[in-house]
Amino acid sequence: MTASSGSHVAVIGGGIVGLAAALEIQRSGHQVTLIEPEEPGGRQAASYGNGCWLNPGAIMPISLPGLWRKVPGFLLDPTGPFVIRWRDLPGLAGWLLDFVLAGRNWDLVEACARTRFELCRTAVDEHVALAEEAGVPELIRREGVMYVYLDRSEFLAEERVWRMRREFGVPFSEVGDEELRRIQPELAPRYRFGARLDGGAYVVDPGAYCRALEQLLLRRGGKRIVARATGFEFAAGQLSAVRSQAGPVSCDKAVIAAGIGSRELARQAGDRVKLISERGYHVVLQEPGFDIPCGLMPSDGLMAVVATREGLRLAGQVELASVSAAPDWRRTEILLGFARKMFPQLKIDEARLDRWMGHRPSTPDGLPCIGVSTGSRDIFHCFGHAHTGLIQAPTSARLVAALLDGRAPPFDPAPFSAGRFG
Ligand SMILES: Cc1cc2nc3c(=O)[nH]c(=O)nc-3n(C[C@H](O)[C@H](O)[C@H](O)COP(=O)(O)OP(=O)(O)OC[C@H]3O[C@@H](n4cnc5c(N)ncnc54)[C@H](O)[C@@H]3O)c2cc1C
Repeated sequence: MTASSGSHVAVIGGGIVGLAAALEIQRSGHQVTLIEPEEPGGRQAASYGNGCWLNPGAIMPISLPGLWRKVPGFLLDPTGPFVIRWRDLPGLAGWLLDFVLAGRNWDLVEACARTRFELCRTAVDEHVALAEEAGVPELIRREGVMYVYLDRSEFLAEERVWRMRREFGVPFSEVGDEELRRIQPELAPRYRFGARLDGGAYVVDPGAYCRALEQLLLRRGGKRIVARATGFEFAAGQLSAVRSQAGPVSCDKAVIAAGIGSRELARQAGDRVKLISERGYHVVLQEPGFDIPCGLMPSDGLMAVVATREGLRLAGQVELASVSAAPDWRRTEILLGFARKMFPQLKIDEARLDRWMGHRPSTPDGLPCIGVSTGSRDIFHCFGHAHTGLIQAPTSARLVAALLDGRAPPFDPAPFSAGRFG
């Protein structure tokens, strides 16, 4: 319990980030109301359709030195793992420029990796504890995740990245050709090297995990409002309610954790954040014909390949396009094409494929926004986790809960401030 415990806190957004934040804030002694118009962790949420990886080595931002050289290719090659829709380019150009600049040299990348490490270092254990508390320990498998390369030279070309992981103490092991075949005999012979993050894990049903966390919140006295949050109301300079489609929800404090929906709410709380959707896709194959013993990611396809409860999930692709643009399902064909290259004997039942598209809420500098808003000391941000929000949710939750309570934060919150966008 803290000086401010006993407040009524509204958490906006029932994806993995909002749910983890809501539970952590409830644990500190507050009454929590979750505001979410859809099913928590439902198909509308990135938290439903992601690649399921809990990767303790997810320290690297996406923007690395030399990326700018690849941007023209992203515009011209519609079959790669990263694509930009021409017609949406004018609206995305500013973000894209900041994105490229954020990774313009290795000093910046290393500083970012150090900050990101704080969000990852304890996260797998925290997820395991959370799943146990929620009564669903079987949803998390601690069987590691592995990057798969064509050969060791490809791995060595990323030496700087792996060296950083080693320096931070993220355990990984090199997997030679023979061992690779022992682990995954169905893997095509063109892949001859692996790097396995031994402390990694994956979630076999991220949607069910979110639903279990919501149920835990409600069992512990939390409330749920089924509505979209539209703004904030103030009385005597203090937050009095979150405005919603179902009417005002009275509260003393609020946390914006609405994924890609956070940008407009943050604007109303005084922050113009640079947040766009890096749209991603997944396709799930039922009965692929063999087991996958750990999470895999091929160096060419850059997609997570994971055995989920519903089947083999292939999740990846980055498509820069407006949030409202219709899905381009050809991107799931690209995922399937890479899967065929990975597993020549893969069985694909076209009639039973499940295809999904969702929004990674992404800032240009590879860091989420976590902390108090500029416009009100009662409104807090917790969004913008892009490619790694699943793993980073519990640590982000601890940070935002501490800041909300005025407690000493578990790590330096300064790099996550929304004020960094000016
Ligand atoms: C293809 C793909 C693969 C990925 N793979 C991984 C991975 O392997 N590992 C990993 O760590 N991360 C991965 N990610 C990233 C991760 O899924 C996201 O970072 C994370 O799910 C973001 O969670 P969130 O709660 O912020 O947003 P979301 O899950 O999108 O949830 C936001 C919620 O807010 C609600 N909402 C929106 N607006 C409002 C409003 N106005 N009022 C109330 N509610 C609102 C929405 O309905 C939604 O339920 C992947 C993402 C994608 C797309």
